[in-house]
Amino acid sequence: MGSVQIVTTILAAAITAVAVWLAVRAVMKMTAVIRLGQPAPERFADKGARTTKMLVETAGHTRMLKWSVVGAAHWFVMVGFIVLSLLVLEAYFEVVSTGGGLPIVGHWTVFGLVTEWIGILGLVGILVLMAIRLRNRPNRPENRSRFTGSTMWQGYFVEWVVLLVLIFGFVIRGFKVATDNFEYPVWATPLSHAVGSVLPDWAAGVSVAALIKIVISMTWLIVISLNVTMGVAWHRFLAFPNIFFKRDPQKAAGSGLGPLRPMTSEGKPLDFEEADPEKDQFGVAQVEQFTWKGLLDFSTCTECGRCQSQCPAWNTGKPLSPKLLVLSLRDHAYAKAPYLLAGGGKDLTGEEKATEAQLAHMDVLALAEADRPLIGTAEEGGVIDPDVLWSCTTCGACVEQCPVDIEHVDHIVDMRRYQVLIESSFPSEAGVMLRNLENKGNPWGAPQNTREDWTKGLDFEVPRVGEVEDFEYLFWVGCAGAFEDRAKKTTRAVATLLNEAGVSFAILGEGETCSGDPARRIGNEFVFQMLAQQNVETLNEAFDGREKSKRKIVATCPHCFNTLGNEYGQLGGEFEVVHHTQLLAHLVSAGKLTPVQPVDGGVTYHDPCYLGRHNRIFAAPREVLGDSMQGELTEMPRNSERSFCCGAGGARMWMEEKIGKRINVDRVEEAMSTGAKTIAVGCPFCSTMLNDGVNGKGAGEDVEVVDVASVLLRSVKPDAPAGEKETAPAAG
Ligand code: SF4
Ligand code: SF4
Repeated sequence: MGSVQIVTTILAAAITAVAVWLAVRAVMKMTAVIRLGQPAPERFADKGARTTKMLVETAGHTRMLKWSVVGAAHWFVMVGFIVLSLLVLEAYFEVVSTGGGLPIVGHWTVFGLVTEWIGILGLVGILVLMAIRLRNRPNRPENRSRFTGSTMWQGYFVEWVVLLVLIFGFVIRGFKVATDNFEYPVWATPLSHAVGSVLPDWAAGVSVAALIKIVISMTWLIVISLNVTMGVAWHRFLAFPNIFFKRDPQKAAGSGLGPLRPMTSEGKPLDFEEADPEKDQFGVAQVEQFTWKGLLDFSTCTECGRCQSQCPAWNTGKPLSPKLLVLSLRDHAYAKAPYLLAGGGKDLTGEEKATEAQLAHMDVLALAEADRPLIGTAEEGGVIDPDVLWSCTTCGACVEQCPVDIEHVDHIVDMRRYQVLIESSFPSEAGVMLRNLENKGNPWGAPQNTREDWTKGLDFEVPRVGEVEDFEYLFWVGCAGAFEDRAKKTTRAVATLLNEAGVSFAILGEGETCSGDPARRIGNEFVFQMLAQQNVETLNEAFDGREKSKRKIVATCPHCFNTLGNEYGQLGGEFEVVHHTQLLAHLVSAGKLTPVQPVDGGVTYHDPCYLGRHNRIFAAPREVLGDSMQGELTEMPRNSERSFCCGAGGARMWMEEKIGKRINVDRVEEAMSTGAKTIAVGCPFCSTMLNDGVNGKGAGEDVEVVDVASVLLRSVKPDAPAGEKETAPAAG
């Protein structure tokens, strides 16, 4: 070992010792913060499925590759990082000896070949990612992008470290080539040989370059260890457990979508017949009341802003960005952590848990952070502004896009639950809807005895459950389908088509009550459970004696469809629920319904969030429309998984939209840009919102918003009255 190698070895050892010590400290701190969360025992079930899903999602980059260029570049950078780690390890042998290399694999041509090409592709990948970040940098207010609000220096820092470490990998190899210490052939390592051809024959070059590479890598480790909230770096480690512990590993996609998590306290679902707000946690009022998985979610956020770029609230000028919400919760959790770890915190009655002695030497900043209300305005020092919380439509675009499977919707609804159930604090307009649900069993407050009015004037009898011997499908009409004028036409169209196709079905009539979706999404779990339990009882009676596969329900409202099919199981109701577009697609393909007259003027289709993203039903409505038109439909730029919300989900249907551009107007402009004269929908709320949007733009005479069922009925029975142009005024 020469004098240069002695110096490089000592320096490499010193900086590594400091970096490793800080990293261990940082990991312990993060673990302690995440462990402050509430239990989530269900996250440990299905370990096999979880492992498979984690490996498939990370190795295959299945979520990242939805953005193909970024996804491909990131894949090479990720693989490059893993291989880089081996090469950083190799650098420790190189600081000691000019000809040093990893034991066993370090002299193997295959290792040289693989690392060379991963390094080259990693270089290309990181340059692409750097260019994308630079092109989208939000340096001016008018340059809003997915990076708006991200901590940009951290992104640049991480990218430059990756770039420099890759470059110095080739410089080390180049010096080995120049000093004749390199054993891999030119065909396997062309770039290393090219670099070597321009470097001087300097014997110490290998060790010095290796030291620089180690210093860069260890500086990175030191910086991220001193910044435990630096998700852009930490996600390299945290993404694995975050994906492993995702809500539903069995699902092919949309793990955090579809059903909401039940309300839990101490890890157990709450039953409102026994729940006590002084003993049980009702939603989330303090950051430590999220589960540990919630705190892991917040820690894992990479600040990539994919969620933000798709969020309808953010894109229409509302204060909500799912990314900024997650970052606010993360920063608050870590700033409050010293107080919590010292024994601080409020019990369920609001009393301080820590003694004065425990808090005597507490950092004043941590104490100040602990005093901030989780939900509150800027003047109140709130972590999340109420306007942020109530802007969410629960459309799921954020969850769908997040590459590390963060479950934004669950967290938002958990915070809403506390606000509604304990604070009674929510947009006042929604109070009427909640009162109507409690007193009348429907959000409009319509009399229950008018639930069957939609059947009047049909030229066939609509049977009720109990009046017929047997039925294949229970037709769940839903409140909109029963009371809202435009949705009633969809209900009539579906009933007419089922009758035409010879499907035996029956309705509950006055036995039906609201599915509870708006109550659940606004956070009123109490009203949801009340309605849902009543419906589960009614449905279990209607299907008495039938096995699950024969307990078939068809619903026209995606919110009812989602609630009955995905959430009633939490309350003992197991049913096979289909959306009417699925059943109609089946009936057309089975030849039981035959579209004969094509729709004029072109059709575009708006995916309802609770049918599409939340339940992955994209094909069936398109099949029906394709058959009805006897041709292609024109897609909007944002369609299927990336569809843009109509603005009505998450109980937003019953709240005023006071901030920014109206979401429905944004969507209608996109739909009208296709030139189609018909905007087909599969949801009564979308129908109302888009109709409002079309009328608001004064285009009611030129463009029609109509349900897929009505489009099909016009094609199957061109003279049917339910296929009339839908001109009824909007409700809600
Ligand atoms: S669910 Fe939709 S509206 Fe809510 S934060 Fe996510 S993207 Fe935005
Ligand atoms: S998509 Fe996920 S990782 Fe990216 S900013 Fe949003 S929450 Fe964070």
